[in-house]
Amino acid sequence: MKAASLVKALVLCFLVLFSLIHPFSGNIAEAAYTYQGKVNANVLNVRSKPGTTSSIVGKLKKSQVVTVTGQQSGWSKIIFGKKTGWVSAKFLTSVTWKGYVNATSLYLRSTPTSKGKILETLKSGTTVTVQGKDGSWLKITVPSSKRTGWVSASYISTKKPPTVAAAPKSLGTYYVTATSLNVRKTASGTAGVVGTLKKGTAVKVYKKIGNWSQIEASNVKGWVSSSYLSTKKPATVAAVPKSLGTYYVTATSLNVRKTASGTAGVVGTLKKGTAVKVYKKSGNWFQIEASNVKGWVLSSYLSIKKPATVAAVPKSLGTYYVMATSLNVRKTASGTAGVVGTLKKGTAVTVYKKSGSWSQIEASNLQGWVSSAYLSSKKPVTAPGASVSNAPKVVLKENSNLRKGPGTSYPVIIVEKAGAVLSKIGEKNGWVQVKNAKGTTGWVAGWLIQASGSSSSPNPSPSPVPSPVGNSPLEGKIIVLDPGHGGFDSGAVGRLYREKVLNLNSAFEAGSLLQNAGAKVVYTRNKDVYLSLGQRVTISHQAKADAFVSFHYNACTGTCSGIDTFYYSYAQEGELARYIQNNLVVQTGLKNRGAHFGDYHVIRENNRPGVLVELGFISNPIEEKIVGTSAYQKKAARGIYDGLIQYFSSK
Ligand SMILES: [Zn+2]
Repeated sequence: MKAASLVKALVLCFLVLFSLIHPFSGNIAEAAYTYQGKVNANVLNVRSKPGTTSSIVGKLKKSQVVTVTGQQSGWSKIIFGKKTGWVSAKFLTSVTWKGYVNATSLYLRSTPTSKGKILETLKSGTTVTVQGKDGSWLKITVPSSKRTGWVSASYISTKKPPTVAAAPKSLGTYYVTATSLNVRKTASGTAGVVGTLKKGTAVKVYKKIGNWSQIEASNVKGWVSSSYLSTKKPATVAAVPKSLGTYYVTATSLNVRKTASGTAGVVGTLKKGTAVKVYKKSGNWFQIEASNVKGWVLSSYLSIKKPATVAAVPKSLGTYYVMATSLNVRKTASGTAGVVGTLKKGTAVTVYKKSGSWSQIEASNLQGWVSSAYLSSKKPVTAPGASVSNAPKVVLKENSNLRKGPGTSYPVIIVEKAGAVLSKIGEKNGWVQVKNAKGTTGWVAGWLIQASGSSSSPNPSPSPVPSPVGNSPLEGKIIVLDPGHGGFDSGAVGRLYREKVLNLNSAFEAGSLLQNAGAKVVYTRNKDVYLSLGQRVTISHQAKADAFVSFHYNACTGTCSGIDTFYYSYAQEGELARYIQNNLVVQTGLKNRGAHFGDYHVIRENNRPGVLVELGFISNPIEEKIVGTSAYQKKAARGIYDGLIQYFSSK
């Protein structure tokens, strides 16, 4: 390296170092930094090059302002008209100007690039001193922090930007504790309400006057009573997910699974009729919640209709045996109450309730109250075979099926031939429980048997209801049962049931009893179809009905309850109506609204003895629940059946 080269290298080295320290001064070729300079000499020569030896190209007067584009060795390069020139730097005073940050927040950077280190964040309205510029960047000094750096020129203005009024200092965040809190215009209970706040809403309190707090919530400002504000957030009830509706389990037992899959773990089971809320559907799975289980069930076992529920059987207190030779069964727990039947010694009864010295019992075909003194939990000792030998004998009129239970739905045990003599050991719903010579017991329809003339011991205390055994008064009688409404005509509509359905069920129950007792039953409809009133009457006429019963359930706009039986001609059917009404009330225990005249087409136009029964009010929610049970329908059927037996017996 030569000596001259060394000097050049040192100078270059110095310049590089200098430019590193003052990056925007000294490196003329690359400097883009400019600032304004004001002439502080009376006259200032502008030269072609830095130094007093160069030619003078012009003069500046005192206070003239020029743009300085560079520096070199005490000389400033300036823009001079359309040319550039050099002036002695000491005769220029840099001109700064006052600016304001007009961005919400503005970074002060170490270099005039967006990659410069952030020195400070300047808020809107901050006063800055602008030193100069480089492209779109301004070199500024922040008087408040005494920092110098670079900001984007777009966010500095010479005018102070309108400032958002400083938010008044809040006294803190409070929460609404009232379900709904009025926000008023001023601190007064009579001031206009400008909004309401829900429980749990967070508000900022700015001021308190008396018992009033000036608040601001997300969308309302005003005054609220301080009594309903708390610094503690009130416990909020978790938002209940929106249910898709209530469904009922239609399967006898339905598995609830963890996820929507038949292989997912079972988390519980639901019984038929259980109400569940459905929240989600996924394929053929429903996400449900019942009272004590959540999970997924197969949607095919849910229905929006509540399935008909079997009435809960009252819990029994146990089986007892009659100790008296003959024990009266009474309507209520009183020795003066009407006798509804008698029980023989040894008869098993189920006790459901005790009241004083009375027990509410149910025997095979009898319900009521008996004196507890004549009941024992131990079966009384009887002579061997006594129960059979003392039992009345009956004779089969035809070859008959002996069934396991009192109804054609029970399986046949054996077939007994016409003329067979059997011991009668019980009866229920028009069926008779019999025992043959070999000791086999079974049930046979009552109309198939007759009392045996050789009965060793006829029943000394017959049931007050004429027995269907033997020549039932219903034998061969043609009974037309007319379930009201049907098809598009629902009749009365309750909260749970539609009248047309209950009418049909009740008619079927009565029809089954009547058929078992030997009656010929004709239904005007046996399914959910519409029939005109005229068609119903025609069926009665064509069948030559011995009795016609139209089944209905009632509705009213107020609170009504009870049973009515209507006749049109008292001479023709008044007695029938009375018998049916009385027995309906005895069987069901519902309010007796009486047997009375009614101008209804099906009985008015009917030339056969006909009545119309209203079996209770489904507009009455309490009564609707009662009459909808199958237990009630059976009782009502029994009442009609008993009424018909009494009617035909009286003829
Ligand atoms: Zn009706």
